[in-house]
Amino acid sequence: MSGPVFSSIAIVGIGLIGGSIARAARETGAAGEVRLFDASADVRAKATTLDLGTVFDSAAEAVAEADCVFLCVPSGAIGKAAEAVGPALQQGAILTDVASVKAEVAAAMQAHAPEGVHVIPGHPIAGTEQSGPDAGFASLFQRAWHILCPLEDQGDAYNAAVDRLALFWQMLGAEVERMPLARHDRVLAITSHLPHLIAYNIVSTAYDMESVDEGEVVKYSAGGFRDFTRIAASDPTMWRDVFLNNREAVLECLGRFSEDLAALQRAIRHGDGDLLFREFTRARGIRKAILDAGLDSAKVNFGRDRRPPDGGE
Ligand code: NAP
Repeated sequence: MSGPVFSSIAIVGIGLIGGSIARAARETGAAGEVRLFDASADVRAKATTLDLGTVFDSAAEAVAEADCVFLCVPSGAIGKAAEAVGPALQQGAILTDVASVKAEVAAAMQAHAPEGVHVIPGHPIAGTEQSGPDAGFASLFQRAWHILCPLEDQGDAYNAAVDRLALFWQMLGAEVERMPLARHDRVLAITSHLPHLIAYNIVSTAYDMESVDEGEVVKYSAGGFRDFTRIAASDPTMWRDVFLNNREAVLECLGRFSEDLAALQRAIRHGDGDLLFREFTRARGIRKAILDAGLDSAKVNFGRDRRPPDGGE
């Protein structure tokens, strides 16, 4: 495609994800104009300094002339953001988002979108543990999945809008997959939400253990713990909202996880090395499948090559 997919986009919430979309849209030419708003005056000032686009003092002004509006705020703030932009949206505009949970967020957007606006929930499977406009970078979405969760039975104009949004994300370098809302929430509960909960929990357990010195935890962190601390450094607001908004799917996974953990605990107690070996071998196979699919690298530090060139970890 030669020209921009959208002549004008608006981004509400200029954090890691919003800031990355702004940079990528301009760098790739996927959008002609980038209009920005954030609830925080400091963030708006920062976005102006970073020259991420045209910054407005209200959400309504930012979205007024946009063909496509991206809500890039924590899941728990989507309703408020959608309410602020709803009355100002153009007929035929797309209202999308990037939140990590989909069913509740989609309902919140639908509640505030006027007739004639296409609500298309979405989620980029890309990110880091950093927050804020400084943390964003244009290559974040390259070779990453972007999941779109189109609403059902919306008609031809809606389907054309979904295709257009998919094209936008492809121009940013993403691979687009379409998935029903509930399925997204179940899949992400096990692949993303539960791992974050485990990371938060293991880090706090390690720090609360009276038998281990805090200094020792830091000093010997390379033994597996360090990778958990990276995940556990993720934004507390975002992750609080993820668990509150994907409660059922996470609780279901947690139930299964607890049962499986209890089986490993029993195997250790009873010296059942066969069971441990079998389970660990199976897990190793899953890691190999991820590497074979080109979704990660076997390099030291997991070859985290989606980081900004200057490091950023
Ligand atoms: P972030 O860096 O914390 O940025 C979010 C920004 O939105 C903040 O500047 C925040 O301001 C602002 N904001 C909050 N409520 C607002 C409102 N009602 N109107 C306008 N601005 C508002 O967050 P992020 O990491 O970019 O995450 C944004 C979304 O992307 C979340 O829904 C998250 O689930 C999703 N996501 C994140 C990742 C990741 O790795 N981080 C990956 C995929 C998807 P204040 O700080 O002042 O509240």
